[in-house]
Amino acid sequence: MRPTSATIRLKAIRDNYRVACSLAPGSSNIAVIKANAYGHGAVEVATVLQDEAPAFAVAFFEEAVQLRDAGIEKPVLLLQGSMEADEVAEAADRGFWLMVHKQIQLDQLCAAKSDHPVRVWLKLETGMHRLGLDVQEAERILERLLSLENVCSEVVICTQLACADDPENPVTNQQVNRIRTFAERHRMPLSIANSAAIMTAPESHAQWNRPGYMLYGNSPFAKMQSVGDGLRPAMTMRSQLIGIQELSPGESVGYGHVWTSEGRSRIGTVAIGYGDGYPRHAPNGTPVLVNGRRAPLVGRVSMDMLSVDLTAIEGAQLGGEVELWGENLSVNEVASFAGTSGYELLAGLTGRVPLVHQ
Ligand SMILES: *Cc1c(COP(=O)(O)O)cnc(C)c1O
Repeated sequence: MRPTSATIRLKAIRDNYRVACSLAPGSSNIAVIKANAYGHGAVEVATVLQDEAPAFAVAFFEEAVQLRDAGIEKPVLLLQGSMEADEVAEAADRGFWLMVHKQIQLDQLCAAKSDHPVRVWLKLETGMHRLGLDVQEAERILERLLSLENVCSEVVICTQLACADDPENPVTNQQVNRIRTFAERHRMPLSIANSAAIMTAPESHAQWNRPGYMLYGNSPFAKMQSVGDGLRPAMTMRSQLIGIQELSPGESVGYGHVWTSEGRSRIGTVAIGYGDGYPRHAPNGTPVLVNGRRAPLVGRVSMDMLSVDLTAIEGAQLGGEVELWGENLSVNEVASFAGTSGYELLAGLTGRVPLVHQ
């Protein structure tokens, strides 16, 4: 068996969820588990949070069906709402909540014949310019929604913050004010905060918050990683040294020879690559833990392997344990070397990495 896997500590996810709740004690926190729970296994994560979270959120219908088919019974919010008309009745019957962010989704609700009323979230545009209705459209669609028999009489007013991971940015306050004005005028419950806003923007906390990334134990702030205090990374990506070579001065490593040994060096080959989701853009010097000590990545990451300089690591041998990110090496740090975010690395894990749930 290939010695590469991601260990997932489910208890850490439960504890991180409790951190989110303690930061926003007046809110209900819907656990965001889209993209296979940011790579952690949506069914396992939903199972461990089932007794704690009032509901789950995923991006789209198929992700919600996967949870139901696995026996998860809590409501599941589809953050992008229905994509096709025939999803609406099934969503109602299966206890999925539907986001409405455009007219066509209202039309689909009007046409649907379901046995149960569906709970709707109405998404407003307040500054992100991605999905959402402007205020006038939202007024009109809300009125129509409230007249429909198959829609619950309480509609959650929702928006997504564009810059919450930059606590100094005044855009967050503008967005919060816009959405609060609307929700108060209509006396409807409200949902604004993602992880970053839960941690640093209490004015955004409302009836419903939507924590995602923080549940997996990492700070959503690329520049302020210490705000993640109290969170514990749930995933540790591990592999092993499967090859070791001694290099002479002037010899180079890997495709394109992008790293050349200055003196004599000892280079280890690790059984993980971009085919597993390790970022190909990680440059020379990206930290890798070998036997618990930091060693620099050298050479270009290949599909199934990468190389590390073991010259300064005493006792590193074939079979030696390697941590790519996790409890002892922040995924955010690896991501910043590779010019991306920890979100992308976690969600980008590929299906060939076995998840070992603990
Ligand atoms: C993904 C997502 C979230 C969670 O964001 P985090 O930064 O991971 O906490 C919240 N709301 C919406 C609409 C999302 O798409």
